[in-house]
Amino acid sequence: MVLWWVGLKLAWLYLMICHAETPDDDLMMTNDECHPMNSPDFFDQGDLVAVLTTQPLDRTLDYRAPEGGCMRGAFVEVPLGPRKVAGVIWGPGRGDFDLARVRSVIRVLDVAPMREEMRAFLTRAAAYTLTPMSAMLRLATRAPGLGDPPSMRKVYRLGQGVPDRMTDARRRVLATLEEYGGLAFTLKELAEMAGVTTPVVKGLVSHGAVREEDSPRDVAFPPLDPARPGKVLTDEQGAAVAALQTAQRSGKYGTTLLKGVTGSGKTEVYLEAVAETLRMGRQALVLLPEIALTAEFLTRVQVRFGVLPAEWHSGVTMTERRRVWRMLGQGDAQMVVGARSALFLPFQDLGLIVVDEEHDTSYKQEDGVLYNARDMAVLRAAICGARVVLASATPSLESWANAEAGKYDRIELTARFGAAVLPQMHTIDMRAEQMPAGTWISPTLRAAVETRLEKGEQALLFINRRGYAPVTLCRACGQQIACDHCDARMVEHRFQKRLMCHQCGETRAIPDACPSCEVEGRLAPVGPGIERLAEEAAALFPDARIATLSSDLFGSARALKAGIENIAAGGADIIIGTQLVAKGHNFPLLTLVGVIDADLGLQGSDLRAAERTFQLMRQVAGRAGRAERPGEALLQTFQPEHPVIRAILSGDEDGFWRAEAAGRQAAGVPPYGRMAGIILSGGDAGAVFELGNILARNDMALRAIGAQVFGPAPAPIARIRGRHRVRLLVKADKGAPLQEALTRWIAPLRLKGDLRLAVDIDPQNFY
Ligand code: ADP
Ligand code: ZN
Repeated sequence: MVLWWVGLKLAWLYLMICHAETPDDDLMMTNDECHPMNSPDFFDQGDLVAVLTTQPLDRTLDYRAPEGGCMRGAFVEVPLGPRKVAGVIWGPGRGDFDLARVRSVIRVLDVAPMREEMRAFLTRAAAYTLTPMSAMLRLATRAPGLGDPPSMRKVYRLGQGVPDRMTDARRRVLATLEEYGGLAFTLKELAEMAGVTTPVVKGLVSHGAVREEDSPRDVAFPPLDPARPGKVLTDEQGAAVAALQTAQRSGKYGTTLLKGVTGSGKTEVYLEAVAETLRMGRQALVLLPEIALTAEFLTRVQVRFGVLPAEWHSGVTMTERRRVWRMLGQGDAQMVVGARSALFLPFQDLGLIVVDEEHDTSYKQEDGVLYNARDMAVLRAAICGARVVLASATPSLESWANAEAGKYDRIELTARFGAAVLPQMHTIDMRAEQMPAGTWISPTLRAAVETRLEKGEQALLFINRRGYAPVTLCRACGQQIACDHCDARMVEHRFQKRLMCHQCGETRAIPDACPSCEVEGRLAPVGPGIERLAEEAAALFPDARIATLSSDLFGSARALKAGIENIAAGGADIIIGTQLVAKGHNFPLLTLVGVIDADLGLQGSDLRAAERTFQLMRQVAGRAGRAERPGEALLQTFQPEHPVIRAILSGDEDGFWRAEAAGRQAAGVPPYGRMAGIILSGGDAGAVFELGNILARNDMALRAIGAQVFGPAPAPIARIRGRHRVRLLVKADKGAPLQEALTRWIAPLRLKGDLRLAVDIDPQNFY
């Protein structure tokens, strides 16, 4: 985690805190105290302007407007010491510099200026997450070379020549180019649109039937066509689409919780919301929690709208990022499918944000700027008048509560599409199973898998643990192998023949001798991980084809995609998977899900342990029986009477949510109260604790708003990368101005040496 220096003056940040309350209330604010509207939008040459740069400073810097003047929001290059850095014209200069020394803006970059709406969004998001504006600006400019002159690449358009002979593939290429008039496409786009391989296009080039040209790399994305026919919707789906589209046509902000069991057609429904957005001439953003899921979704977009949308995630090349960023800003891209950081792209007219699998914890950024993409989506939409669709089979308690309170619209899909029905769910009481030590698949589960295999169906064995075994123990001295830098065990990854720390990523070879007592040959794995489970399954089911799906077993997103497609096509009999498989893949032949350890999530001291287990188990179970064959889910548990396990089985979701909500309401915790985590860290444990004590003693600012502070206490992982970690937890009432109080509380603090402090608003993980 990058920890923000707060020894810096927070005064500027402080000025911008606009009474952010809870995400939702905050989002409803329409007045804009943060943006004085009376200041001009154009600055003449020589005018004093305030420039926000991406450098870690806590304030804007004054410059003189360049020759020709500049717009407010313009992206510029400015001198800073001996360097040139990028920035944005934020408003009139502050005038608190020595005017004689104020330098000039070097140049205005040739990209669309940052819009008012984006500046407001960054300002509010910074105030809500207590993040310096420079860090927000870095999030909003994560494309390289924005100011560079355009680079060139090859594109393909219709030529005059006639091919020597006509094949079906060639005909498709020419028909595609004719259909899109004079447009030119990249080789990859054209081949994909025509459904041919790239040599087919190249062949046509050699006959002059297709022309190859150099063109600037940043070309417009081909238009999506909402008029192409969609799927014929069921009555329930059709009603959902009608309600959504009616809401969209108001052109105003609003959030819809689209709740529906897995396979009920939520994706089909929100694709129609995308279609409506396109018809309104606005742009759409679809956020997915997992890159591995994008491939399947992209294909569905192409089927519906004829072409692929723009993509934005860590797997996208730098030049393509630049293209997406620039084209969105000038309205030459209509739809983006991406990861959470896509929220910070410079859309020209964003009309729809879909957050698919909205409950997914990966939407909470845990590194650098600590934000929750779901909440930020609502914030951004509220500012730019867009509709938000939060789709999930198992919504977060936050969204469920907002829908209950009438803040969000709610649309429900109750039936699975077609013949598919929800799987039957049962527990396997592990206390009654006879099993040899070091094995994890119970005889009951084994028999169930065998039955499925005999019918030619697929079974999924689910365990949410990467690696071979979570613990490596020395049988001679009893010590577990731990990471040198963290308060964590090293996890054996037998496939890679290494021990790995899941906290800091440190790896080392698996030793022969115990690092503590140096006795050789007595190290033993304890407990199951996905690799060990795969080994057990291979021994139990020697004739079955076994596929192991864990994010770290595939070298690339492409390999993972191929792996998933192979499984979906029936290339495996047994799938061994981690959390990765819980997220929205379609495996039509899958009819049995066996959860190896349903208790795994129940032990956590985490506020959301029950919610997470409930969601995960329902999601995993939802993988079974998606096509014509009915499915079954078996949960191995040592506590079948645990209320969460009972709720999972009964399927009484509203009952579960109501009980969970009542518990949290009584405890005054989110979403019925507000929380912030403070993480202090440093190399010297004493100094870190001392800092925590100073904070805890000087809590006047917090008490003034009725907030309480707990701690300091060692964080659950008390050491990461050699840094000792101490946590404080702040709890406040729902309406309390928490950010303002936190800022006032922290501002006087001076962080000496390597001490760091991070603030986590609405913490999701308590590590
Ligand atoms: P969800 O997003 O709720 O899990 P999907 O939209 O992925 O559900 O739908 C599940 C499967 O059923 C997909 O393969 C989808 O194409 C198919 N499907 C859903 N609705 C329809 C429909 N009205 N017509 C044809 N196929 C449909
Ligand atoms: Zn470590």
